Amino acid sequence: MASNDEIRRYIRGCHILHFHGIVDAYGHLSYRLSDRLFIMSRYLAPALVSSLADLVVYKIEDGEPLMEDAPNGFSERYIHSEIYKAYPKVKAVVHSHSLDVVPFSISPSTPLRACFHMAGFLGTEVPVWDAATVYREDETMVQSMLVRSTRLGASLAQTLGVAADAEGLPRHPVALMRGHGFVCTGDSIEMVISKSIYTAQNARVQMAAQSLAGGGGHVHFFNEREAADAGRTTIAGAAKPWPLWVAEVELNPLYSLK
Ligand SMILES: [Zn+2]
Repeated sequence: MASNDEIRRYIRGCHILHFHGIVDAYGHLSYRLSDRLFIMSRYLAPALVSSLADLVVYKIEDGEPLMEDAPNGFSERYIHSEIYKAYPKVKAVVHSHSLDVVPFSISPSTPLRACFHMAGFLGTEVPVWDAATVYREDETMVQSMLVRSTRLGASLAQTLGVAADAEGLPRHPVALMRGHGFVCTGDSIEMVISKSIYTAQNARVQMAAQSLAGGGGHVHFFNEREAADAGRTTIAGAAKPWPLWVAEVELNPLYSLK
């Protein structure tokens, strides 16, 4: 099982994602315990997760609970299990329905890309996963856009791509999901939350800039070198905002940690 420190960071992580509008009643954070297991909250809004009793241990192999008497969990936990399976060095995953980001999942002519220095990690291209690629293989599937099977989860995980220079990590830390949201990966809870928050901020900045520019107007994006260098700098400073983010949720009575 996770240590007390890991449990506290997980629960505060859920609260921080809510405080920053990355999740609402839906969306979730998970954390890898080992090469075989990960934790996620039971079926509960992230803001309301408050104790060890709210956590469920899942098997990476099939996304099913380790214990038969586990409380009900999220039907989209296969997003997490399949990403952990495909990328052994991913330690934490966020799934979000952020309204800042969703528009970029349905507008192929205006893809999300890094244009704000805190989000250089997005690079010059953020892949978009389309559930329809799986629906086309089996037209009897329920086409709800939700990732409710290992098959759909594996297809989404594949969209992140394999990193050429960092074994076990995906090439893209973030992928959008058409008409649904996004998934973000990191090598720690702090990192995945940082990247999720700055992905949404980049989306807001880009949306504002493209509105200013108007149709056909020019928006100045980062080139590959700028995105890579800005991304490395953000990663180096990822721990800095964490104490502030924790303090913000500690002072808010909505968020409880027992
Ligand atoms: Zn979802």
